Amino acid sequence: MKLKTEIYPWGTERRFNSYSDYFRKLFGERVQKITLDAGFTCPNRDGTCGIGGCTFCDNHAFNPAYNTPDKPIVTQIEEGIAFHRKRYRRVSSYLAYFQAYTNTYAPVNELKRLYEPALTVPGVIGIVIGTRPDCVDEKILDYLEELSKRTFLVVEYGIESTLDSTLREVNRGHDFATSVKAVKATAERGIRVGGHVIIGLPGEKREDWLEGAALLSELPLHSIKYHHLQIIRGTAMEKQYESEPERFVSFTMDSYLDLVADILERLNPEIVVERIAGEVGLGMQVREGWGKRYDEVVRRFDEILEERDTWQGKYYHLLNQDYIREKR
Ligand code: SF4
Repeated sequence: MKLKTEIYPWGTERRFNSYSDYFRKLFGERVQKITLDAGFTCPNRDGTCGIGGCTFCDNHAFNPAYNTPDKPIVTQIEEGIAFHRKRYRRVSSYLAYFQAYTNTYAPVNELKRLYEPALTVPGVIGIVIGTRPDCVDEKILDYLEELSKRTFLVVEYGIESTLDSTLREVNRGHDFATSVKAVKATAERGIRVGGHVIIGLPGEKREDWLEGAALLSELPLHSIKYHHLQIIRGTAMEKQYESEPERFVSFTMDSYLDLVADILERLNPEIVVERIAGEVGLGMQVREGWGKRYDEVVRRFDEILEERDTWQGKYYHLLNQDYIREKR
């Protein structure tokens, strides 16, 4: 039985600054994201900054069935709301999530044409835009700044790794400095900035992810998503995995969640943690999955934090050498 309750800096008893609690505090209820495919492409696929795309990428792995770019945005949202209503009957607030490919990869007028209708759908209280850090410019940021004054807005950058050697290896087409610059330029305009990071890219190890958490903690990030690497069938990464399996770390669910606990110990407690793991359909992955739903993964993570009596930001203020001493 839990004898002692503690209120953490984010204002709840939960041991990490979770997105669901953040929304409950902000809007007084659960908020559901509706993922959308607005028909954008990607500069890392069309030759502008690269060809072939990131080696781990298969956007179809993340798109639900109701997302097809030939449907208008409003229709996709309405179908998404109907889909989620079956599971979460009491949810009445939604975020339009422009997720597929690079959702700022178009002139500003085109962005307006795609984003603005989302705000006309009853129940939509804001917009989340997933994009690459090298795909925003002053004009786009001007518009996003104005948009963020009218609605709840998050611009989510695919950072993926803090190591340039990894970003090169996975053919990402930008370096970590580009992510730092985009995050800062966006946050300076008062726009909420999210970051997406993958744990388990080839050649990376525990120290890299812990050091990465310390680096990301210094950025003006509003939220962060951690995904464990799920190797999708048919991607270039599948071929690499077949030829160099020793370069990939395999996690059991508990070993991964233990690592995430270590990462969150180093993470700035002000950063809201949106996800701690990926959620790709089992049939699409090369490696065996954990056979757990995401809510079960999160429940186990809460237990691990409790068992270890640890929490997000526990070692955030320690310098690197002090942290190493502490964990020895
Ligand atoms: S992960 Fe994003 S940036 Fe990379 S190829 Fe896929 S859509 Fe493009």
